[in-house]
Amino acid sequence: MKPAVYLFDLDGTLISAHGAGRRALEKAVTEVLGRAVPLEFSFAGGTDRGIARQALHDAGVEPTEEAIDELLSAYLQELSPALQATEEYTVFAGVRELLDELRPRPGLAIGLGTGNLEAAARMKLNRSGLNDYFPFGGFGCDAEARDELLRAGARRGAARLGVAPEDCRIVVIGDTLRDVAAASAIGAECLAVATGFTPRDELLTSAPTYCVADLTAPLVRDVLNQR
Ligand SMILES: [Mg+2]
Repeated sequence: MKPAVYLFDLDGTLISAHGAGRRALEKAVTEVLGRAVPLEFSFAGGTDRGIARQALHDAGVEPTEEAIDELLSAYLQELSPALQATEEYTVFAGVRELLDELRPRPGLAIGLGTGNLEAAARMKLNRSGLNDYFPFGGFGCDAEARDELLRAGARRGAARLGVAPEDCRIVVIGDTLRDVAAASAIGAECLAVATGFTPRDELLTSAPTYCVADLTAPLVRDVLNQR
């Protein structure tokens, strides 16, 4: 069996924190800029640096690297209380069962492939106890571009298996068109899952390798657990 690295997106794929991240960023913007700025763009499939850049741009502030760093540092301060305050927190159907099945498989490295800063990803997963399944990942602190952070995750996964990334089967599991595009850019397979805001029909237009309604679909086992 070929060594494999699976990179799971976080928001919309594993869990939903029902807007806690957005609320934390809005607070951080208010705190850093001294005024409230409506953030009217979609965060889905974005990376934390890209989202912070857009927020500053929309506020009429030049998004220098320093300004982005300052905003993200305020965001991390706000995220934990925002996550504690949110009553709604969803782990999507089939997630835990799938991870339990995959975890003992030899020759397989399971990581995150998410636009969240690693600290933000760990905070978001903490509430569900899912962090233990993901000892590594590619994160929004590795790169602003999604394909590059996936590359970093693939490299780390392959290193854990003691092989080169080129010798691994890489599968990205994600809920947005941006996950599909980034997977394709690094030559990975993509299992698109319609648990986020992008309906299955729309995901299919981007020609992911596989597409399912949620992670309980039998196809998920065929793709991830049968080879
Ligand atoms: Mg997502």
